[in-house]
Amino acid sequence: MEALNLQFLYGKEFWTKLEFLLKNASERVFILSAFMGENTYKKYIKFIPDDVFILTVCREDSSYKPVESLKINHKYFHGKIYLIDNTIIIGSQNLYEANKEGEFSTLIETDSFNSSLILYQALLKIIEKEPIQAEPVDEDFISLYEDGCPFCGHYIASDSVSLHTCPGYGGDFVSDDDCESYGGDGFCKYCLPENRRSIGEAICCDDSGCGLGISLKTNYLLHHAINPVTKEEFDLARQYLRLFNFFAKQGEDAVEIFHKLGFVGEVYKINHERKQHKLVSHDVAQRMVANLQNRIANNQ
Ligand SMILES: [Zn+2]
Ligand SMILES: [Zn+2]
Repeated sequence: MEALNLQFLYGKEFWTKLEFLLKNASERVFILSAFMGENTYKKYIKFIPDDVFILTVCREDSSYKPVESLKINHKYFHGKIYLIDNTIIIGSQNLYEANKEGEFSTLIETDSFNSSLILYQALLKIIEKEPIQAEPVDEDFISLYEDGCPFCGHYIASDSVSLHTCPGYGGDFVSDDDCESYGGDGFCKYCLPENRRSIGEAICCDDSGCGLGISLKTNYLLHHAINPVTKEEFDLARQYLRLFNFFAKQGEDAVEIFHKLGFVGEVYKINHERKQHKLVSHDVAQRMVANLQNRIANNQ
């Protein structure tokens, strides 16, 4: 999609739109609503076609908590976000009291990457103060690698590599293969095979990818010495692992959630500063096109 559509929803408009979007959902529905009403929840969840992935999140102090919903600490979260395929609705309307007036929301219709990004940032904020560690990451994380590196989307040919520390690479981690093909002329002169300190098997992006990896021994994050990562990148990767652990610890299929919500391939890099995106208004765009056409016409 080239355009980004925005729509302001007031009162009943929200419910009409939500019903329409849910009935026409084709891939994914994510509902994050601090409070949920039993009648409203049951009515609207039925609109969603059978084969669509559904994930719902509510606060632990909501008077009604659907069994299948994830529950989040009431201290940190008052938000409402609805994602239906690539449409996001953010506003004040809970999935509660469908007849109440007075709430307003903004609908954003965009592409899969941008809608996933908004959701990813919201989820990181919501779990920010939850007592979840990034490491060790749940071992299911490894199966995200089946379609390439979950951090950067780069295809990794081998399942796992044997890593060791090498003084030739600043004492950081490299694969046995890296030292055996050192400088293109055989064995690394800094670490003889018999002196290498092995740190065990890992699944790790090589120098054509992001360099991040997971130790299969400890399930801790690590990075390849040949393409060093900055501290910021490493911290962003840790936030990504925390979110995975958040879903996994609640007994959810975190691998499926990450796939359906579009959290594989690049999303982890998103900075927490939540920089603004520039949108050009329709009038401005038309004026620019008109100016351009005038200039072309004048040059002819
Ligand atoms: Zn070496
Ligand atoms: Zn990677």
